[in-house]
Amino acid sequence: MTTLPMPRMRPVGERSLPDQFGRVARDLRVSVTDRCNLRCTYCMPAEGLPWMAKDEMLSDGEMLRVIGVFVGLGVSQVRLTGGEPLLRRSLVDLVTGIAALEPRPQIAMTTNGVGLERLAGQLADAGLDRVNISLDTVDSETFTQLTRRDRLADVEKGLVAAAEAGLTPVKVNAVAMRGINDDSVADVLSWCLDRGYELRFIEQMPLDAQHAWDRAEMISADEIRERLSERFTLSPLPDRERGSAPAERFLVDGGPQTVGIIASVSEPFCGACDRTRLTADGQVRNCLFSNRETDLRGPLRGGATDDEIAGLIQGEMWRKAKGHGIGDPGFHQPDRPMSSIGG
Ligand code: SAM
Ligand code: SF4
Repeated sequence: MTTLPMPRMRPVGERSLPDQFGRVARDLRVSVTDRCNLRCTYCMPAEGLPWMAKDEMLSDGEMLRVIGVFVGLGVSQVRLTGGEPLLRRSLVDLVTGIAALEPRPQIAMTTNGVGLERLAGQLADAGLDRVNISLDTVDSETFTQLTRRDRLADVEKGLVAAAEAGLTPVKVNAVAMRGINDDSVADVLSWCLDRGYELRFIEQMPLDAQHAWDRAEMISADEIRERLSERFTLSPLPDRERGSAPAERFLVDGGPQTVGIIASVSEPFCGACDRTRLTADGQVRNCLFSNRETDLRGPLRGGATDDEIAGLIQGEMWRKAKGHGIGDPGFHQPDRPMSSIGG
């Protein structure tokens, strides 16, 4: 883990997003909707959640204006997520608007892939650069058990469409759950290697709406490494190739293909974090695990200037905690679930 320097004073007038520990946010995650068409058990309950009302959500114009302010503050990568981002009807227009910002940020999206078959080409034409598609298993029954929907075939078609549209490298995100898909992590890797997709496992985090996460049940990065090593030879890539990226990457069987493992819980990478987040209802969050947020929707609708919005964002980022503190005695899981924060 990176050692953080001592707290310092907040600089005034800078067009950047520093925090008091010397980190600078450059990667904005935007949740464009909290709704979803799957019900992954590690994310939300079977009945879904009380979704945001339309007027609670930022309009396209409001969202683009705030993203523009972030870009003016040095954000160089925008990742669209949710909920399921493909469910926002105006998604293609939103991507077009982001691609027109100066300087143009890199535009990525995290999606469950359902419906991507139809939209991949339009999104790529609008300016989307890359996608991460979530797929925890390649077994149809297990997929249905895990997501509570029989949609594996749709996700597979979405992956093919993403590659054909040039949204490359196509990355796959997988969460391993004990007793459900933990014995088949090597099958997922083998499947991805055959198709040229870059797989990354993510440790399950305490961000489910049901607050059912249990550290003792979590499949750790070590366990994933062990299970993959039963079938593949993994050679770690040097740390310097990692930068602020959360995944520790390994060459598989000598390369060139790789697999990543994101050990958010067991080996936190908060010291190198460069992320900031905007929720669909216009709240800035400095961390997934933060128990506070700053409202931008009220000021936006109340006539705030871009400079005033920028000041609110900078204030929120300056207060970013040193680490997420999972496992600390005072840790309190945020009330807002992952599907509403934006993963
Ligand atoms: N619906 C889209 C999807 O599933 O890709 C985007 C939103 S989802 C919240 C973003 C990512 O968070 C997905 O890769 C998902 O697997 C992951 N995720 C959701 N809940 C999680 C949890 N409790 N722990 C770890 N990852 C989680
Ligand atoms: Fe939906 Fe993504 Fe949550 Fe699964 S992880 S329920 S696809 S928001």
